[in-house]
Amino acid sequence: MQKHYFSEGLVGGDWLFDICIDVASDGLITKLESGVTPPAGVRQHSAVLPAMPNLHSHAFQRGFAGLAEFREAGASDFWSWRSAMYHFARHMTPKAAEVIASALYVEMLKAGYSAVGEFHYLHNADQDQSLAMSEAIIGAAEKTGIALTHLPVLYQASDFGGEEPLSGQAPFLHTTDDFCRLLQVLKPRLTGRHRLGLTFHSLRAVPEESFASAIDAIETLDMKAPIHIHIAEQTREVNACMDWADMRPVEWLLKNQPVDERWCLVHATHVVEEEWRGMADRGCVVGLCPTTEANLGDGLFPAHEFLKVGGRFGIGSDSHISVDAREELRLLEYGQRLARQARTVLTAREGGHTGEHLWRQAAVGGAQALAQPIGELAVGKRADLIVLDRRAPMFAGSAYSQIVDSFIFAGQPNPITDVMVAGQWVITDGKHAREEEVFAEYSELVGRISRSMEEGA
Ligand SMILES: [Zn+2]
Repeated sequence: MQKHYFSEGLVGGDWLFDICIDVASDGLITKLESGVTPPAGVRQHSAVLPAMPNLHSHAFQRGFAGLAEFREAGASDFWSWRSAMYHFARHMTPKAAEVIASALYVEMLKAGYSAVGEFHYLHNADQDQSLAMSEAIIGAAEKTGIALTHLPVLYQASDFGGEEPLSGQAPFLHTTDDFCRLLQVLKPRLTGRHRLGLTFHSLRAVPEESFASAIDAIETLDMKAPIHIHIAEQTREVNACMDWADMRPVEWLLKNQPVDERWCLVHATHVVEEEWRGMADRGCVVGLCPTTEANLGDGLFPAHEFLKVGGRFGIGSDSHISVDAREELRLLEYGQRLARQARTVLTAREGGHTGEHLWRQAAVGGAQALAQPIGELAVGKRADLIVLDRRAPMFAGSAYSQIVDSFIFAGQPNPITDVMVAGQWVITDGKHAREEEVFAEYSELVGRISRSMEEGA
């Protein structure tokens, strides 16, 4: 049993002072009190918040972030970005995937994310390496201390109706039987702070007949395992779905699959009212990745309407063009402000603080999507938390909930000093114990891949 002391912080919906949190050896919070001053000589940390789950990551894409910000003759859109990304993906071996994921996960921890949902579709380099590629991701999580919800992806087709895969998609493919076997092999390796879930890449990439067997396979292993899917990121995808089924993607999914609280619908960007009401009714989580969605020119999700009817959401850094939970939430809110010419849009129905509301909702929604017992500081939850440097200039005029508002909207530079995952400090005084080694390996690898891509271009 360990006791940790904090000067103030966000506990449930309340801002409390002189907080003491008891953490058991399994990382769970067993007692939480306020108004407790630490014994003489024991450190009292500064302001504490629940850590943020990152519900959507393609780790290898971190190595490619920033390398597609130019225009060649012709269209520059999601689909041209995807071709360039496939080119980068060809360089991923298990070792390369582990090096990139390790550096990314350290960046995530420093940015206040304590858990990551790894939407893992890079199964093969030049041969079947599914297990080794998954082990690379698990190895990176073990090395860095982040909590992992590993989400192997079923990917079988290039378009609606089971179209033949493209050559660039070869590293992503599995038969349904091989995929179900992979889930069985991985399940016992994901214990402690790690979980296993199931992912369908998209309706484009998975033929209708493959859904039921994959869902059966994961339910045999874990009835509560999360199920994720990319759903309606691009209007071209929505139109293709209309041509195929005469239904929009979310409409089709809600009608044909057992969508419930286990499901996370990533990039449900293009939805009409019937669809966002349907998602809210089912209790699934919408996975929003505002910086990636902005970077790829996807569009704006109707977050205001969806939250107003009780819809649940979480955030992900997806392509990792940015690794910063605050920037995701800030951009989510700013998108709504710009579209509506209004301020403080995403608050509770009765009003209140936007920053605090966004942090709480995204933390709880992200925890649901990752099936991890985190997202708030409470007895029975895991001790995943972040400490803010209350002395940072951005907090000079803030008190209570304004601290979270300032953190999100005025938070430059990063004021996170310490991060705890499952009761263990993984970031202390802004540093990860292995960051120098991990970042050096990353720089050497990504520099080498980038040079070889230029030479090959
Ligand atoms: Zn994605």
